[in-house]
Amino acid sequence: MLVANKSNGEVFSLANGKAKKELEKIRSREKFYCPDCGEEVIMKLGSKKIWHFSHTASGSCQYEYDRESEYHLSGKLKLYNWLKKQGIYAELEKFDQQMRQKPDIAFDWNGQKYAIEFQCSIIHADIFEKRTKTYLEHDVIPIWIAAENLIKRKSHMVVSMNHFLYLFLRRPHNDWNFPAFCPISGQLINLHGSIPISTRKAIAILEVKNLSQTSIEDLLNPKARHQPFIKIWQTENQKLKSRYLMNPGAWQNRFLKELYRNRLSLLTLPPVLGLPVHFSPYIETPSFIWQTYLYLDVFRQHKIGEFIHYPQIQDAFAKRVKKGDIRLRVLPAAGERDAWYALAEYVFLLTKVGYLEKINSGMVKVQKEIEIPSSIDRQLEAEAKFFAEYENKIAQSVFQ
Ligand SMILES: [Zn+2]
Repeated sequence: MLVANKSNGEVFSLANGKAKKELEKIRSREKFYCPDCGEEVIMKLGSKKIWHFSHTASGSCQYEYDRESEYHLSGKLKLYNWLKKQGIYAELEKFDQQMRQKPDIAFDWNGQKYAIEFQCSIIHADIFEKRTKTYLEHDVIPIWIAAENLIKRKSHMVVSMNHFLYLFLRRPHNDWNFPAFCPISGQLINLHGSIPISTRKAIAILEVKNLSQTSIEDLLNPKARHQPFIKIWQTENQKLKSRYLMNPGAWQNRFLKELYRNRLSLLTLPPVLGLPVHFSPYIETPSFIWQTYLYLDVFRQHKIGEFIHYPQIQDAFAKRVKKGDIRLRVLPAAGERDAWYALAEYVFLLTKVGYLEKINSGMVKVQKEIEIPSSIDRQLEAEAKFFAEYENKIAQSVFQ
């Protein structure tokens, strides 16, 4: 930790810019205590590590144990100094009595309170959700910044996104985003977009900037970056489908079994069953799976000209969720939306690409049958044609 209490209860911060000699003098006459557990801590002024306070005994203090890696200390300090340089009033490691939480950095900007949590280790989703909720309930916007090394770039615009990183996602300017920081390189990374492909992979743009060339607005309200992604979407989904089929456990995969029972094959699914929408991050199950379930449960049961009530589609989706065929995500930092928005967007997208016609807010009419290609070659042809024709409409649906 960088902040400790003196014996008179006063708070003492090592981020105050004092020189080593001066600090040594203070150290020789003062005792310091951990603001969390009250145990004595020692001021460490070594040359290898960032100056910090450390517990004397390897006690049971949660704060010390969880978070105090050199990487975390240094990141917190750099972010704090960066805010101060911009003339922003910020407080390090300040325990908030009302919230009973201690953000790494608390600060005010344009009349809004913010809390920065620079998260270097994986914490349980429940804790992440609870902390986020507590901030929001107290009108504090949490900015969760991931340690840069948690993000793995797979290839151009493809990153590996695990469950943990989804928790960081926010939607400033209606665009998915979360920041990451590396205290060693001093780089702030903005991850823009996030179109999930599989449970662990997403399409996103990584914008890398030096913290010194970054403004507070780049962190709080980053400008969206969009790039054509349809080609990558197609390639990655093809790869994912192949991986499903090649998996030794494929014969007992519930989705594949259901396809076979319905005389369908994964590689000849039509392109319309597997489209991205803006709120896709709320659904963990790959899009070609949840959309095929909707096809089996609803769309296939209706002929051209027939009406489908929207609650019927919702009902089918909810049943699949209940059975565990479709898995959803909770995104605590993204606000009050959920998977229902993704479902509504998908149905709306089907009206945009000519399969359904919107009658009113609660009803659609079948315009065109969803045709199943007769071979893999036909599927590839149909897919190429479909994406060439509707690329813009799909991009509009994703980027809003
Ligand atoms: Zn302690």
